[in-house]
Amino acid sequence: MSSPTVTQADHSSGVEAERQLPSIQHWVGGRRHAGVSDRTSLVYNPAAGAPIAAVTLGHSNDVYHAVWVASQAFPDWSHTALGRRAAILFRFRELVQQRADDLARCIVREHGKVLADARGEVQRGLEVVEFACGIPHLLKGEFSENVSSGVDSYSVRQPLGVVAGITPFNFPVMVPMWMYPIAIAAGNTFVLKPSERDPSPSMMIAELWQEAGLPDGVFNVVNGDKAAVDAILGHPEIAAVSFVGSTPVARHVYQRGSQAGKRVQALGGAKNHMVVLPDADMDLAADSAVNAAFGSAGQRCMAISVLVTVGAAADELVPRVQKRMAAIHVGDGMSASCDMGPLVTKAQLERVTKLIGDGVSAGAKLVADGREVHVDGRDGGFFLGPCLFDHVRPDMDIYNEEIFGPVLCVVRVDSYDEALDLVNSSPYANGVAIFTNDGRAARQFQSEIEVGMVGVNVPIPVPVAYYSFGGWKDSLFGDSHVHGTEGVKFYTRGKVVTSRWPSPEAGGKNLGFPTVG
Ligand code: NAD
Repeated sequence: MSSPTVTQADHSSGVEAERQLPSIQHWVGGRRHAGVSDRTSLVYNPAAGAPIAAVTLGHSNDVYHAVWVASQAFPDWSHTALGRRAAILFRFRELVQQRADDLARCIVREHGKVLADARGEVQRGLEVVEFACGIPHLLKGEFSENVSSGVDSYSVRQPLGVVAGITPFNFPVMVPMWMYPIAIAAGNTFVLKPSERDPSPSMMIAELWQEAGLPDGVFNVVNGDKAAVDAILGHPEIAAVSFVGSTPVARHVYQRGSQAGKRVQALGGAKNHMVVLPDADMDLAADSAVNAAFGSAGQRCMAISVLVTVGAAADELVPRVQKRMAAIHVGDGMSASCDMGPLVTKAQLERVTKLIGDGVSAGAKLVADGREVHVDGRDGGFFLGPCLFDHVRPDMDIYNEEIFGPVLCVVRVDSYDEALDLVNSSPYANGVAIFTNDGRAARQFQSEIEVGMVGVNVPIPVPVAYYSFGGWKDSLFGDSHVHGTEGVKFYTRGKVVTSRWPSPEAGGKNLGFPTVG
């Protein structure tokens, strides 16, 4: 997947040191491809705090080349029989399953999350592959016989052409798998631009597609940063773009992509609230809050980052949360005894640490401080222990910003209505949860809350693959959520055929508008 380039040169030079690292290139037309760009970016093992590879940052010409290759592959692939496409999907599913552990280790090396979590990510991604295996059924159209005398009508869905996916660092296997299995199964060809922070899993996936028998050129990977993204957005032959990442970039991708006439779905950032009513099972709520806030060191778009405690719930809940946090073992994600790994980069560690300082200065009460965490033998790692702020107010930066780290904020409110207003005032609306034993209150909440994915006594309500995933407001730009039937619709376009097989006596002049009869 990556090829070592060893040099005898001067070790004191940063550039030469970088040249000694394995290099990660692109995958185009069924093989690794160096491309024309000489820009690279270091890929780190966040637990060690050390670079382990250098990824090529693609030039616009690298994007153009990949799109050209994908467009050449499109006519044959889109005409490949549905059963044969499904068979390749089934083989791909088996291969990913067989190599799940290697993929998970690859994720841990570059992302830092713990191995069990990475295995879970692969499994959740596979759900979408399994959904896409049913593509012959998913593409079935409708047929109406005799809509007029001797006239039948039927609908079909056809692929779009070359489509692209641009993905974030936090789920390097699962998030791309929200996109390409359905896009490819539907007959499109695909160009993936993964995060430059953890690009290796996508290169492994490319090899597995090839092993599964996918024709060369149907799945391509162009590594890179903004330059590659902007080349994708401006390329006239890319029909649709799926994006997942932060809100400012999602907005940019949506605006640029749709201005260029593309179909765009752009999923953005999040600030997910968990509302706890006083009648909730407090032990369940505490377990759920801790798992959902600190899993993957808070680097999940569905992480719970705000606990909204109603009335007496806070005094019951906060000590329980604190007690559970004390038992979280921070360390190298490869270690079986570890619950929480590092943050992805040094810059992200510094950003989150600064936000914690800002929270203290703004008057929030830091009841658990993870800033002094120490991991034996991993002094350079980007570690931060779990942090808990109580008495957070909605005017504070720690409340408003997406922290994307292991920091949980408690906002105390007096009533259900206040909790509802608080959540509905947030510009983000990805996920939300309510914890209560009152079915009527839960039902009212699911109806009144303005958020795309709602959990009732479930802290991370990620829909299964046959439903669609996506938020509202600044958490999603565009009309379509990903996977499920919305995913199938996004990667296809509908056509309705009205058909008559005339008998020899039919005909004659009639300039009127056709009517049913
Ligand atoms: P990011 O926005 O920095 O990067 C996402 C992608 O955009 C990457 O491929 C990156 O190379 C590219 N990119 C970055 N800056 C760009 C720019 N200025 N112009 C064009 N392209 C650019 O996101 P990230 O840090 O990799 O991931 C974390 C973010 O993703 C969080 O905000 C998280 O909430 C969000 N996320 C959202 C969902 C969701 O379903 N809504 C899922 C996962 C992650």
